[in-house]
Amino acid sequence: MITVLKPGVPEEQLNKLIDWFEEQGVSVHVSKGEFQTVLGLVGDTRGIDGDLVASLSMVESVKRISEPFKSANRKFHPEDTVIEVGNTKIGAGNFAIIAGPCSVESEEQILEVANKVKASGATMLRGGAFKPRTSPYDFQGMKAEGLELLLKAKKATGLPIVTEIMNANHLPLFEDVDVIQVGARNMQNFELLKELGKTNKTILLKRGLANTLKELLMSAEYIMAGGNENVILCERGIRTFETYTRNTLDLSAVPMLRELTHLPIVVDPSHATGIARLVEPMALAAVAAGADGLMIEVHNNPQKALCDGAQSLTPEQFDKISKKINRVMEAIKE
Ligand code: PEP
Ligand code: MN
Repeated sequence: MITVLKPGVPEEQLNKLIDWFEEQGVSVHVSKGEFQTVLGLVGDTRGIDGDLVASLSMVESVKRISEPFKSANRKFHPEDTVIEVGNTKIGAGNFAIIAGPCSVESEEQILEVANKVKASGATMLRGGAFKPRTSPYDFQGMKAEGLELLLKAKKATGLPIVTEIMNANHLPLFEDVDVIQVGARNMQNFELLKELGKTNKTILLKRGLANTLKELLMSAEYIMAGGNENVILCERGIRTFETYTRNTLDLSAVPMLRELTHLPIVVDPSHATGIARLVEPMALAAVAAGADGLMIEVHNNPQKALCDGAQSLTPEQFDKISKKINRVMEAIKE
């Protein structure tokens, strides 16, 4: 249930109302926007008399939220969420460019890619250390050593780092990681999501291979229900009957999610297409669709990459896209 207050309600009255709601066994999420204060009630709100709340002089309106996701719901929090990551921001017009290799392979590799993507305008560095591979015989990532190398690259460039977690037991290793990625294959690993909900880390939650947007939002809700509201959603393509591309990029997810949620939305054209030459057109289309950021795989030598070489761009190709991103952003400004 959400309660929209009239403008200018004194703090004391606001606190009394919050206490009254809490006495009825629900928790209250306060969203103070520029024009409106919205109280989002989470928990079992069936016992709360909506008509009584609506009759209070300080209340403008009361709505019951029909969607099963509450904290992630835009009705609950009308303004776009802005998440600060290191010295950058994402959301509400702050655009994030997350770039780097699929996997960390060596110190030279990650440092070279990190320096180059930074010079081209990347705002965060990605790199997998724990890799979820379809085959157990494929390279599984450098694991803890890979995280150490990412931290070196962070120190050298100042770029915040984004890397995937596969097991909640590994959380202590992720202490200095800025953004923890939950990969497509773990989107519904609810025990992992619950553990991440107890942290204050920013979580980049990727859409599962065959999951609906509602399921994606319910997974975000798992994290948020634990108290961690720093969630970024990522559309990375879904499985369809098409086989020319690795997945099918569901670009309509961007404006649809924009309506449904206040959380920042990132698009990953690399995993969505699986083909390096398709990354640029889909990245630019994602910007035009209103994404808050892009995640792009960049490798210093894609032909020799241990993972996802076919979809990885060279630093030079990334540089070219990066410049075009700004032009598309300018073009769609109102
Ligand atoms: C990745 O980002 O390298 C990755 C494994 O992505 P996804 O979970 O989207 O397949
Ligand atoms: Mn990859």
